[in-house]
Amino acid sequence: MKIFLTGGSGYIGSVTSALLLDRGHEVMVFDNLERGHREAVDPRAQLVVGDLKEERPVAEAVKAFKPDAVFHFAAYALVGESMADPMMYFRNNVTGAVNLVNAMLASGVKRIVFSSTCATYGQPDTMPMTEDLPQRPTNPYGESKLMCERMMRWAQERSGLEPTFLRYFNACGATERLGEDHAPETHLIPNILKVALGKAESVQLFGDDYPTEDGTCVRDYIHVSDLAEAHLLALEKHALGAFNLGTGKGCSVKEVLSACREITGREIPATIAPRRPGDPACLYASAAKAEKVLGWKPRESAIETIVSHAWNWHRRHPDGYGA
Ligand code: UDP
Repeated sequence: MKIFLTGGSGYIGSVTSALLLDRGHEVMVFDNLERGHREAVDPRAQLVVGDLKEERPVAEAVKAFKPDAVFHFAAYALVGESMADPMMYFRNNVTGAVNLVNAMLASGVKRIVFSSTCATYGQPDTMPMTEDLPQRPTNPYGESKLMCERMMRWAQERSGLEPTFLRYFNACGATERLGEDHAPETHLIPNILKVALGKAESVQLFGDDYPTEDGTCVRDYIHVSDLAEAHLLALEKHALGAFNLGTGKGCSVKEVLSACREITGREIPATIAPRRPGDPACLYASAAKAEKVLGWKPRESAIETIVSHAWNWHRRHPDGYGA
């Protein structure tokens, strides 16, 4: 199939492009390279450098490529940054999705797999999180993704769009070639590994007074390769609607830190810091629907596997892609 893939220079988009190409699909990457890395774009893909905030370039690229489906990864994805500057998130994430869907409809392309997030739920009262829980985001990042989902549902109802919403939990891990490189890095595992590499003195744990077993936030860490696989299954099975992508098991910040100490064999000093605004205490998925409908099962998402893959990548790329 021909896949038009936005955000192919980013973390999850680059891993998914590589998997699509490995499986014989044809990929056009549309990306403004603002936050991603040209080096992460698979050389087998056709790269169009363009900004989704503008209507014309994406409309022209979709029209010229005539894809069978669109995978939409390109977005800002940092909770803290979105709390500091909400409008930046709505402008980038919502405008980008609107222009992309308009471009699709104008060219008669119906199928889209959208990178959504567990942040669209906010902090639900019950765990594990199923897809039918109310969506009440606690930060503008989650709100911006929810707005995209809602927009696409209307486009489905009124214009025949065929959307899948993959609601990722915490993407992490790496492949041999591709890993996580954000500037500034805000994510837990790369920040811990930076300390293990001696590139930072200590890692800050944001809050140890949450109502969780050890007081630190609980998240559901899912290997980027497992996420990529779910996209292909959603495409092959033509599965529309929402799917949570997580392991079904939560892991606290302190547990992640312990796993990193064990895998790296390094001490990794840590200090307790204030809570980060917008962080819910505990989020983990029910992966039942994805398993039942997509036949998806995380294979590389044991925390030890995630950390060892990430550690391999960061050791080989101590300065990320840029070096
Ligand atoms: N976290 C932390 N120190 C860091 C980065 C993150 O304690 O340097 C915590 C953060 O507060 C959250 C969890 O680790 O509870 C996962 O955060 P991350 O930014 O990796 O992903 P998010 O859950 O925000 O998508």
